[in-house]
Amino acid sequence: MEGEIRKIQDLKAQLLKIGPFHPGKITTQYIRCGKKDCRCNHPKNPQKHGPYYILSYSIGKKTSTVFLKEHEVPEAQKWLEGYHGFKNTVEALVTAYVNLAKKGRWKMAGRHA
Ligand SMILES: [Zn+2]
Repeated sequence: MEGEIRKIQDLKAQLLKIGPFHPGKITTQYIRCGKKDCRCNHPKNPQKHGPYYILSYSIGKKTSTVFLKEHEVPEAQKWLEGYHGFKNTVEALVTAYVNLAKKGRWKMAGRHA
């Protein structure tokens, strides 16, 4: 079997095993609530509220943010890592098909890959 076609089949098999995943990144924020007498507004030693964990992501052109609870952060990180794996695999698959096309193997891909 041709190398590129083998590669395509391997990558497709990998895709079936991928998941769960989620796009985006998590940032941590500390905030001032705005209440005058609050500890977060202390003139010399302000203690801001937080940390707050914010997951921001885009799907197409739509950007969204979600507040995460602290206990959700480790699992969410795993999903974000999973997304990188998914993207890498998809990119490798696109590359493999493009390489196949460069070799003039349009029909070959349709039959075997
Ligand atoms: Zn406050």
